[in-house]
Amino acid sequence: MINVSQPSLGDEELAAVQEVFAGNWLGYGPRSEAFEERFARYLGVEPGHVLFLNSATSGLFLATELLGLGPGDEVVLPSAGFVANANAVVATGARPVFCDVDPRTMNPSVADVERVMTPRTKAVMLLHYGGLPGDIAATAALCRDRGVALIEDAACSVASSVDGRMCGTFGDIAVWSFDSRKIITTGDGGMLHVRDPELARRAHRLAYHGIAERSAFTTAAQGTDRWWGLDVEYVGRRLIGNDLTAAIGQVQLSRLPAFVARRAELTTLYDEALAGLDGVRLPPRPPVDHRSTHYFYWVQLPEDRRDRVAKSLLARGVYTTFRYMPLHRVPLYGPPVDLPGTDEAWATTLLLPLHQALSDGEARTVAREFIAAVGECGA
Ligand SMILES: *Cc1c(COP(=O)(O)O)cnc(C)c1O
Repeated sequence: MINVSQPSLGDEELAAVQEVFAGNWLGYGPRSEAFEERFARYLGVEPGHVLFLNSATSGLFLATELLGLGPGDEVVLPSAGFVANANAVVATGARPVFCDVDPRTMNPSVADVERVMTPRTKAVMLLHYGGLPGDIAATAALCRDRGVALIEDAACSVASSVDGRMCGTFGDIAVWSFDSRKIITTGDGGMLHVRDPELARRAHRLAYHGIAERSAFTTAAQGTDRWWGLDVEYVGRRLIGNDLTAAIGQVQLSRLPAFVARRAELTTLYDEALAGLDGVRLPPRPPVDHRSTHYFYWVQLPEDRRDRVAKSLLARGVYTTFRYMPLHRVPLYGPPVDLPGTDEAWATTLLLPLHQALSDGEARTVAREFIAAVGECGA
């Protein structure tokens, strides 16, 4: 079976983990801080504003908490998003208001976002579908004009940029994911960026029991009596990453450019092998000033054929899938709304295998089997 995604971990990551074992410090510490600094440099932001967490989901929940969202507030987000996006909103008592997306890119236009904004809108939460940057600069400008916070879910877009500016640095708060199916992984893990210095400080506290930053080592060294005391500033949780996963993350980050380059090659291979197939739409190409992470490769077929093609591919040893199940169809998040672009994408889209360990031969097999499956399922 050809996997739709899989991690790339090897000797370098193993060696980094071994070093952590030898150092006897596993928790959040020097390696976590070094990973944050490196990630901040990679993004082009200030290091103190970046925090290594145990998941992107933790970051999304932290984001809605930091913004002080609550009952009576509304948050606009695309229905074509991950459940954690909606959960992080609903958990605060605020209402998720789903906007539509372009059925081809699966990103909302700035008009899609604006259409559902009301005076109760306190935040907008966007992701970049499959690594393809959305209408992020214009949406950020709209949010600034309206005094609305912008949260970027950059889980899929760790290497995406617009005009040289990294996705995740347009909004007020952003998260990245290093979950096992993401391009770079720490097993579980995530990164948070908070633009405002005061909110960034509070994020650090809230992510670790609400305890004020005060190193026991430093206070002991200063000769203070009872250096084991704690100052609890907030009702915090325990959302931070650790040095074991940070060590893996540092190696993965150094390999990221090669991973993305390989994914770009595979995208081109698919584009060429599948060009001109009757009734099949290939993923849209980003505008020249947009760089994609190439996280997903998605094809679109007429609704009556998509499911049959997926089943036929499975029988042929090629696993495919779809992301993301439309959130506006989840009763837990509220009554159904009419979002035709999202529904069209949901009914017609299929993700083909794409990961950096995929060989040219495997990608050609996927393309060949896909063409055969499409033929079998009728035009
Ligand atoms: C994977 C993913 C998440 C969740 O990331 P975790 O690190 O598993 O919490 C959130 N949003 C999007 C768009 C994702 O793809």
